[in-house]
Amino acid sequence: MASIPPEGHPEAAEPAARPDRSAAESAVRTLIRWAGDDPTREGLLDTPARVVRAYEEFFAGYREDPVQILSRTFAEVDGYDEMVVMSDIRFESHCEHHMVPIIGKAHVAYLPDRRVVGISKLARLVDIYARRLQIQEKMTVQIADTLNDVLEPKGVAVVIEAAHQCMTTRGVHKPGATLITSRMLGAFRSNSTTRREFLAMIGLTGAGPLNNT
Ligand SMILES: [Zn+2]
Repeated sequence: MASIPPEGHPEAAEPAARPDRSAAESAVRTLIRWAGDDPTREGLLDTPARVVRAYEEFFAGYREDPVQILSRTFAEVDGYDEMVVMSDIRFESHCEHHMVPIIGKAHVAYLPDRRVVGISKLARLVDIYARRLQIQEKMTVQIADTLNDVLEPKGVAVVIEAAHQCMTTRGVHKPGATLITSRMLGAFRSNSTTRREFLAMIGLTGAGPLNNT
C-alpha cells in the first residue's frame, strides 16, 4: 500500500478560505432546490441551519490534531511488553466521494516499546480521522501511521470493518456488504504469530487473508 504521510496538523482550510455560516446555509438551500423541493416552505426553513450544525459535528476532526492527542504518554509500565489491543471502536465517518455515512468499527493494537498511551486516546485518534471526509483505506493508514510515528512502538496493527452507505443505499445497492481494510507495521507485519494473535483477539481468522469475517 502506498504510504500516505500522517497529517500532524488538521488539514483544515485556512480560515480565510472557509466560507462563513450564511454562505454554507445558502449552499444547503441550493441543494434542496436541486433535490426538487422549496427551501422556503415551512418544514424546510430551519433545515439549512441544522445541516450546517450537523456538519460541524460530522467534520470536527479537521479542528483537532491527532499528534497532540497522542503526545502524552506513560513510561511507567512495569515491564509490560505485550500487545495492547482496543477492539470494536465504533465510528461514523463520511465518504469523500458521495459525502454519505461510512459506519463501522476499528480495531487498533500496538506492541509497546517503553511507552504506552492512555486507552481513551486510541478511540480519540480513530474519531479525529473519522470526522473528516474519508476513504476507508486512507483512514486505516492515517490511524496506523500516526500511532507508529508518535509512540514509536515495536509494531502497530489497525483493522477497520465498515459499511458504506454509498454502496448500501445508492449505486449498486448492496446492503450488508462490509469492507475490511488493514495496515500492519513492525512486528505485526514481520511476525506472523504476532499478527495471528491480534487477528484472533479481534475475532478475525488469522489463518488466511483478511477477506472473510
Ligand atoms: Zn462513496
